[in-house]
Amino acid sequence: MKSLMGMAFLMATSASCQTLPYDPTKKHHTAEGFVNNYPHEKHGFTELLKWKWESFDLEVKTKALPLAENDPEYLRKNRTDPTLTWIGHATFLLQFAGLNILTDPQLSERASPVSFAGPKRYTPVGLPIERLPLIDVVIISHNHYDHLDLTSVKQINDQQKNKPPLFFVPLGLKSWFAEQGIENVVEMDWWDQQRHREWTIHSVPVQHFSARTPWDRDKTLWTGWILQHPDFVFFFAGDTGYSKDFADIQKRLGPIDLSALPIGAYEPRWFMKSVHFNPDDAVKAHQDLRSRYSVGMHWGTFKLTDEPIEEPPRLLKKALEREGISQDKFFIMKHGQTISLEFINSK
Ligand code: ZN
Ligand code: ZN
Repeated sequence: MKSLMGMAFLMATSASCQTLPYDPTKKHHTAEGFVNNYPHEKHGFTELLKWKWESFDLEVKTKALPLAENDPEYLRKNRTDPTLTWIGHATFLLQFAGLNILTDPQLSERASPVSFAGPKRYTPVGLPIERLPLIDVVIISHNHYDHLDLTSVKQINDQQKNKPPLFFVPLGLKSWFAEQGIENVVEMDWWDQQRHREWTIHSVPVQHFSARTPWDRDKTLWTGWILQHPDFVFFFAGDTGYSKDFADIQKRLGPIDLSALPIGAYEPRWFMKSVHFNPDDAVKAHQDLRSRYSVGMHWGTFKLTDEPIEEPPRLLKKALEREGISQDKFFIMKHGQTISLEFINSK
């Protein structure tokens, strides 16, 4: 019930009122906020309370998962080798073609608006924020606290005062960043694209929602990102339920070399299905995307939902076996682990 305490605290604080970005010619824009592309069940605050009530007695045991050792000094100096480091949850450091990219940086103790309550990290951060290499680009999928953490984005921006990273954010979030003093921000709508050095950055639709308070549901957009380099195409799904969006992404922007897909935070299904993949959904998306490789994320870090913490990789393995996909095509990493992405280029 601690998370409800956080919610109550939040209700006591003021709602922010900003002008909604709204283009009536676009199907996913409405005067009340953004909507997903495909029909799905939508759950509100009452159902959130029902879930919390029903799972009141449910004790999901958490324990820190083992961290892999990494070499922050190597990562700091590296501007040539393609690498991927899983810092935890949806936070990856991707180094490719001289660019250091960070996804959804959340390196705090809690995924919450307040420091005393809300989902707590049970596996430590895989790479401390002060030991990150110089970050060139940060991509943000949406404004939920486990993906957009004020302390993390501020610290990353502040520790690079002279050379702040460029933040790519979904529509409606630029003003939030400006309020925090972060100005180097590009805001994008679904299917928008931006050139950055040798890369083209695309915002792509996924099925989710947004909210930081009880009053701002769907007022800012949620998005996946395709980062396209002549030698490498990376897809970062952020948070998503399964939908036809993945086949659409494949059609417009495939082929994809590596996808970061969520595999955790899926129980109870009646509540989570439309907004969070379970491992079966992640495998279906991997197939729809025709992704050469995928890596699982969004598990083993914060206790957000009801499934046992070590279940997602187990169910992923089963789903892959059932579909005849080898484990190295859709792999998982240890927290803190760095892998070389050389195998991506040996096409
Ligand atoms: Zn979310
Ligand atoms: Zn999430």
